[in-house]
Amino acid sequence: MADVLIALGGNVGDVRTTFKKAIANICGMTQGALLARSSDYATPPWGEADQDDFINACIEIETGLDPHALLFTLQKIEKKFGRDRANERRWGPRPLDLDMIAYDDIRLDKPELTLPHPHLFERAFVLVPLAEIVPDRLIGGRRVGDALAGLSTDGILRLPDLD
Ligand code: ATP
Ligand code: CA
Ligand code: CA
Repeated sequence: MADVLIALGGNVGDVRTTFKKAIANICGMTQGALLARSSDYATPPWGEADQDDFINACIEIETGLDPHALLFTLQKIEKKFGRDRANERRWGPRPLDLDMIAYDDIRLDKPELTLPHPHLFERAFVLVPLAEIVPDRLIGGRRVGDALAGLSTDGILRLPDLD
């Protein structure tokens, strides 16, 4: 079994409910077990400022799928929750974005799958929820908590649990 970190994001529709259902789908469709789940955070949009705030969260799962099979499954789940890649802009509004942050210690440098995620260390909206669940994890040789300490977390707001 592999240990995988996944970042969730979205800013269209009832994103927190989408996350809840998507996480159940991720576990069901990846032969996976949920090891940890961060809080949800409200975050300012990144890349394209003129759109609604995002909600972001991170999870850690254990899965028997290989990296490409997992990516394919995550994309199926994005689609199931209304993601329409043909009609969207990169970093534009979307109901659900599922990015693989790390898959064990595997390094891949392909356009369709880069591991660890190439923008991880620039993005407080990923590192804040990630540091909540795996602060001491080394990714690409850097400790998650230390990577976060170098970034501004302005505008990132932890949301109270739903239940
Ligand atoms: P970003 O990758 O900067 O967060 P994005 O999430 O908006 O941007 P998408 O349109 O969701 O980008 O995905 C673009 C492509 O990125 C996908 O087709 C996918 O194959 C590829 N990709 C490369 N590495 C990864 C990864 N680690 N996790 C998810 N997708 C990846
Ligand atoms: Ca993304
Ligand atoms: Ca993505």
